[in-house]
Amino acid sequence: MNQKILKLENLLRFHSLCRQLHSLCQRRTLPLWRHVFSSPYPMWTAQLFIRPDALIPATLSQYRLLITKKEERPQKSRSSVTKSKKEVEVWIGMTVKELARAMEKDIDCVYEALLNTAIDIDSLEANSRLDDVWIKEVVKKTGMKLKWSKLKQDKIRENKNAVRRPQADPALLAPRSPVVTIMGHVDHGKTTLLDKLRKTQVAAMEAGGITQHIGAFLVSLPSGEKITFLDTPGHAAFSAMRARGAQVTDIVILVVAADDGVMKQTVESIQHAKDAKVPIVLAINKCDKAEADPEKVKKELLAYDVVCEDFGGDVQAVHVSALTGDNLMALAEATITLAEMLELKADPTGPVEGTVIESFTDKGRGPVTTAIIQRGTLRKGSILVAGKSWAKVRLMFDENGKTINEACPSMPVGIIGWRDLPSAGDEILEVESEPKAREVVDWRKYEQEREKNKEDIKILEEKRKEHQEAHRKDREKYGTLHWKERSLKKYQEKIKNPLKPKEKTERDSNVLPVIIKGVIYGFNVNAGNVLQKSAAKKGVKIKLHKIIYRLIEDLQAELSSRLSCIVEEHPIGEASILATFSVTEGKKKVPVAGCRVQKGQLEKTQKFKLIRNGQVIWKGSLTSLKHHKDDVSVIKTGMDCGLSLDEGNIEFKVGDEIVCYEEKEVLAKTSWDPGF
Ligand code: GDP
Repeated sequence: MNQKILKLENLLRFHSLCRQLHSLCQRRTLPLWRHVFSSPYPMWTAQLFIRPDALIPATLSQYRLLITKKEERPQKSRSSVTKSKKEVEVWIGMTVKELARAMEKDIDCVYEALLNTAIDIDSLEANSRLDDVWIKEVVKKTGMKLKWSKLKQDKIRENKNAVRRPQADPALLAPRSPVVTIMGHVDHGKTTLLDKLRKTQVAAMEAGGITQHIGAFLVSLPSGEKITFLDTPGHAAFSAMRARGAQVTDIVILVVAADDGVMKQTVESIQHAKDAKVPIVLAINKCDKAEADPEKVKKELLAYDVVCEDFGGDVQAVHVSALTGDNLMALAEATITLAEMLELKADPTGPVEGTVIESFTDKGRGPVTTAIIQRGTLRKGSILVAGKSWAKVRLMFDENGKTINEACPSMPVGIIGWRDLPSAGDEILEVESEPKAREVVDWRKYEQEREKNKEDIKILEEKRKEHQEAHRKDREKYGTLHWKERSLKKYQEKIKNPLKPKEKTERDSNVLPVIIKGVIYGFNVNAGNVLQKSAAKKGVKIKLHKIIYRLIEDLQAELSSRLSCIVEEHPIGEASILATFSVTEGKKKVPVAGCRVQKGQLEKTQKFKLIRNGQVIWKGSLTSLKHHKDDVSVIKTGMDCGLSLDEGNIEFKVGDEIVCYEEKEVLAKTSWDPGF
């Protein structure tokens, strides 16, 4: 009895070994040998090691024998094998690699199981995520039992994100200065205005030194009031920030040149301010110019619902000259007046909240950000998070590069100490400790990964549906053919048309994927052996050039080869219509044109067009061409004829022209020219 069990066990081992060899034989890949050599069954190993190639056919025939024998086995023994099926723990969205690992198999085993299914194996990489249908298929085909993992599926990490605090207690609120953005049409003087305001400030402080561009700066009025100006003029920056959910601007200064009036970007700026519900102060600029007409500007603005005080509205208009600096203080005062009306306040206590205005990497100091503080007071040593970065504030400085120890609400401040570079528009939040900051950043990265996975799965699902549909159509096409006939047909088609449908579509579009100095085209570079081999394997041409004009010519030729042919018209003959009449054919009345051929000849089998007042009003073929009462195929110059068209609704007019032409396909040439 024991001996019998042993034999059965041996047979099963042999069976599995044969499967491996079979797959090896089909895929002609050597790495699997390693797998076989490391088999725990020394007897087979020794034989394989001696003559692997000779063994394969022998083994396969043994395998076939065994299969037959196995099929003859009684039902009972089969069910006992099923019972001992290995269980594989799988989860939604697992990758090819993960599935192979879960099955304790080589990655090829997954590919092998997916052979001849609707999935496109060529597009599957080790890290490609598999749809649950394919996970099931692989596990089933490898004779294992599937178990959906609770862990990976259900384990949603605890939310460790940091968020803004709830609204502050009104008792804690203190007045804060306004944050202003300057907007308006190009060339109306935004940059000049910002420069002048910044310089006025430096002079007032008698600092004299070089101001540091930190994306925002403070202007102090003689009254002690302060205004924070964002140093990026134009609505592009404003809307980019808003698109990221960041709203730091309290007031928009709309610059309109008095000599130019309301222009396209003036209107866009008004719209942006309205969308963001930010009030406007109007700066009518270039008032130093002789042709300046501020009143005209105010009138024009009425059409866009910007009603100045002169017209009974609430928009303050200040006549300025950014160039001479004239009236800039009046503009600042008007801004302060509006800010007072808005009662801008913030809570200067508790953890800091703010927004990144600008970020860049400084060679010596690493990642630097400019931020506007919106709540709390920032101090050295504070721990901040912004986007997926965190900082322990090492240094803070103002727009004059001066180190500061504190930054309160509405203050622009340069911050050093970031681990990575946050992005403009990122929200800054202070957290209690470094471990908390790391936890927040980890959580945000995890969240991003989760979102990406969701997207990947969605794309995979779409791809799967596409493949399934293609597979279904494929099956329909071959109908009830036996699989052998089907394989033969497919093989014959493949030989006839080696391109896959996907590749064909790519070829059909007028796109040429090019990477200069890397794979396809190289200029003054060499491609190593490994690269050449890998490119050859993937069917990628490497074209190396040492003369740029040759590379361009080559590129042009490739581009041209991807363009569809152009159809050119070659005239054969021209005739003018001298009379119109109609003939009755059955119940239908057919319009007929009586013509005289003026040039060349009319050939009935060719294409025709009808021209009226220089416009082509019809293109097509003739239904009849007659000379007197005879049907003819050709009418030569000087001869009269009657003709009718394949379009019955066209009415001929005396004076119309008929052109007979031939269509010829010519190769298209790309118009792309690098310009040198
Ligand atoms: P932006 O595109 O709105 O930033 O406009 P700029 O500040 O670059 O100014 C465009 C042109 O207008 C420059 O040549 C400035 O010197 C000029 N400019 C700006 N403000 C004034 C002004 O108040 N008076 C005059 N005459 N020229 C100005």
